[in-house]
Amino acid sequence: MKLLEKRIVLDGQVLGDQVLKVDSFLTHQVDYELMKAIGQRFAQVYKDQDITKVVTIEASGIAPALYAAEALGVPMVFAKKSKNITMNEELLTTEVFSFTKQVTSTVSISRKFISSEDNVLIIDDFLANGQAALGLEELIKQAGAQVAGIGIVIEKSFQTGRQLLIDKGLTVTSLARIEKFESGKVVFAPADDA
Ligand code: 5GP
Repeated sequence: MKLLEKRIVLDGQVLGDQVLKVDSFLTHQVDYELMKAIGQRFAQVYKDQDITKVVTIEASGIAPALYAAEALGVPMVFAKKSKNITMNEELLTTEVFSFTKQVTSTVSISRKFISSEDNVLIIDDFLANGQAALGLEELIKQAGAQVAGIGIVIEKSFQTGRQLLIDKGLTVTSLARIEKFESGKVVFAPADDA
């Protein structure tokens, strides 16, 4: 998605050799116009797949996932990273190792929000080593539902996540794919929606 690639070049900051900071439009301050365009792009790619729910993980997946859900006309559910006292129903639960926080946390979704009838589009902000996406797939599997695909805003193609997901038979749709960081600049690979 050219608009997204342009914004990454304009506002993204490369940190070290593995991390991209995009806190001015995606992970802290959020550009709703860009998020809406991203959500609509995901919806366009998956429009014929009878998606019944969009599922993401808090926090930065929520904005693009919500706009994808709006464009598809289905509910959006986000997995929670910590349990609170209002979550008193049956939970779907798994462990996810966070690439940016370097800790393992328990993520969960109330059982009542995903049924075996659901055909789910997973959305996340970044794909690095695939642990967040795999965790979401595990929760959806626990509910007996189907995963139609995984929509990623920014994939770092030099990390292991994409291959891991493809090896599991999952479809990955990344709107921006980063081949490498070179002298602090982003080098893109062809995006999946090109
Ligand atoms: P994975 O689970 O695929 O290893 O990592 C994906 C998760 O880690 C995303 O949900 C995102 O929150 C975070 N993440 C991974 N790489 C980056 C990055 O380069 N920049 C930012 N801001 N977050 C990242």
